[in-house]
Amino acid sequence: MKHKLSYTLRGLLGACGCLGCLTGILNLMLIGCIVLTVLVGGLVAVRMRIPDAIYALRVAKFAWEMDRLYDRLPDQPMDITDGDMVIDNVYVQWGVVTNSRRLEQVIESVAPYYHREAAINPVRPRMGAFIPFAGSTSFELLGAASCAEDVFILNYQYINPFAHLFRRDDLLAVITHEIGHVQGVCYATGVNPSDVEAATQILTWEILAAMSADGNKYAIKPFVGELRDAALSWVRAVLRQQGHDDWYRWFVLRFIYTTAEEQSRAQRGWRYWDRIGDRLDDIIISYGMRPWYYMHNALGAQDLRTDRSWFKYPNASGTIRLDDLAWVLSHLHKIEQIAEEKSLE
Ligand SMILES: [Zn+2]
Repeated sequence: MKHKLSYTLRGLLGACGCLGCLTGILNLMLIGCIVLTVLVGGLVAVRMRIPDAIYALRVAKFAWEMDRLYDRLPDQPMDITDGDMVIDNVYVQWGVVTNSRRLEQVIESVAPYYHREAAINPVRPRMGAFIPFAGSTSFELLGAASCAEDVFILNYQYINPFAHLFRRDDLLAVITHEIGHVQGVCYATGVNPSDVEAATQILTWEILAAMSADGNKYAIKPFVGELRDAALSWVRAVLRQQGHDDWYRWFVLRFIYTTAEEQSRAQRGWRYWDRIGDRLDDIIISYGMRPWYYMHNALGAQDLRTDRSWFKYPNASGTIRLDDLAWVLSHLHKIEQIAEEKSLE
């Protein structure tokens, strides 16, 4: 019996059962317990219930894991500009009005997923183009869509080699989001705009997950980045409700934004929103916190990686099954392998 017990202990603690290793492991466990107690204690001190505080830590840990995965994934920027910068010379390719042949090719790669995945009425965009956005919208707005016209536009700075957005890898996520609006998830009288954006986000994540599972190398990194940002938005929204945006800033500077560029860009964003103020909560909740809850509720209450379920649009007829999202969340190692295999091609 004694032998069996020590064997089990060795199995749990690793190959070595010597006193030195055991002491080291016990010390680590003790430090882990203290850190966890301090973190949960801090969140409870700002009037969060203990289960909510523990959930907040789980979401923060998920964001951290997604960021580490994101950093490990090879860069795969879409060469959407090469030999292609037609700009104000609009033309028609395969029935789509555009100013970029490559953009039309990307539309053809994304739009069919809406036929296959979404149970809403699938629509092929009639127009997609890069447009310079005026003034400060050039920084704030990445894309826009019109449901009535079945058209969408993208921030020209994505293909402007002299701009900060040039070749940023979230472009595919933005395109997928805007094509999602074109499917009929639209602003309308009597509909909460926050519901519309949140529904479009969950649709975008399911499509990006499906593309990733199909081995589309351009989809994997933007998809993981979306999951990280959604989890971060959730954490930030909760801490801001407690009056502790400073805690969020400490967390991301310490654990998420670790390069000089990420840190300086984040801090510049904070300075801007500190001046402008009120719309920030709206953005964080609509694009991050609310779709996070939709995903959580649809995929199972306790563990995002287990159950599979359906999401019903709050303001458009139809549902979408989040099966690819569920599959990818429980096979992230596979997605990482695919990205590595594809980077060698
Ligand atoms: Zn939108």
